[in-house]
Amino acid sequence: MMSQQSVFTSEDGALLTKGEQAQRVVTNILNDAITKGTSDIHFQPQEHTTIVKFRIDGVLYKQELFELPITEEAQIVSIVKIKAGMKTEERRKQQDGRFSHSIETKKELLTYDIRVSCIPVCRQFDKSQRQSLVLRILDKKRIQVKLDELGFLPDTKIRLEKIIHRKEGLFLSTGPAGSGKTTTLYVLLQMINTNDTHILTIEDPVEYTIDGFDQIAASEHMPFKTALRSFMRHDPNVIMVGEMRDQDTAQIAAEAAMTGHMVISSLHTNNAVATISRLLELNVTKSMIADTLNGVLAQRLARKICPDCKIKASVKLINLMNCFQMHEDEVQKCLEYAEVATENDNVTVWCPRQGGCKTCRNTSYLGRTGIHELLMLDDAIADLIRTNVNIHEIRKAAIQRGNMLRSMTADGLIKMVKGETSPQELARILADS
Ligand SMILES: [Zn+2]
Repeated sequence: MMSQQSVFTSEDGALLTKGEQAQRVVTNILNDAITKGTSDIHFQPQEHTTIVKFRIDGVLYKQELFELPITEEAQIVSIVKIKAGMKTEERRKQQDGRFSHSIETKKELLTYDIRVSCIPVCRQFDKSQRQSLVLRILDKKRIQVKLDELGFLPDTKIRLEKIIHRKEGLFLSTGPAGSGKTTTLYVLLQMINTNDTHILTIEDPVEYTIDGFDQIAASEHMPFKTALRSFMRHDPNVIMVGEMRDQDTAQIAAEAAMTGHMVISSLHTNNAVATISRLLELNVTKSMIADTLNGVLAQRLARKICPDCKIKASVKLINLMNCFQMHEDEVQKCLEYAEVATENDNVTVWCPRQGGCKTCRNTSYLGRTGIHELLMLDDAIADLIRTNVNIHEIRKAAIQRGNMLRSMTADGLIKMVKGETSPQELARILADS
């Protein structure tokens, strides 16, 4: 604390020193976060300090190295706010901003877009206004990938490619926040980003700008429904609606899909078939759903187990069935697909090692893979939607008819027995599906 105060003792020079120090802290945090593959950096005010957390592969980790004394907080917050083009004197309102940050590696100069959210927070112990910051690191490399790299199994990939190359209809990606829906939509759109296709998007916010897309950021003055109406006069082939949040947006999107456009969007539902109920709630009629819906992809992101410290274990088939609520023939199908054999009704799986290793920075996991469930619609399923919207029956029929190749649980089980993820992780991410 004394050394902090000594910086303030002289005039201009000392202030600059304080600023320089804070600037260095911010740069160090950004560089360290990027090196570790962080998606979000959190600055959280505590009673005597500000703690810094990194979200890596979907999980928040406190960074002990960056626990900051409260005396540095205001300066650090100011630096981030100035970088992001926010008003530094505004401490009582939420603000959003962006800046870019570059890192020089041995090979190249890498530049990242950083999206910043700043909110005023109250602390019982502290009457002064404190501010909490979250910095989202937008790494364009995350969307410059192929479908296989997102974890799609070969047969799911073929079906998805078929859907995305259709000229009209509706395609929806579903899952909770942070399940990778937007990344999948960006990757799919880039597959059809050719000179003969006009792609228009309305997003809140625009995360990545892509050559070839006309992208609009939703705002108070340009809500989703207004943008969608104006799109119809802008000669689109493909329209991406970041998220279907309200009835107007859902209805205009469905109308666009009926009139010769491919519309892709995302929704918050737990599984592929539940999306049909959600569309009905949004007042999209049964016949509109049956006529326009090409397919629904439900997804989650599972952390991949660290290859350097994973522990081999054996689990009884019956325990697998109970744990994931699957029938024996379903589990057998998954094992067959993964080309994994059982030994005395035991299956080999890999579990995380407590404390991990150097490779995984002691987290036991390294990177993530998608767990998917893809529903494709054909005339028979469309007829079921028109006449009978009992979701369980539609789901049963979709599985029997092969419209839904496999459930998210089965997709995850295949990746688990192949050693990509652990039973613990699969159970965790499937808990809400
Ligand atoms: Zn490890």
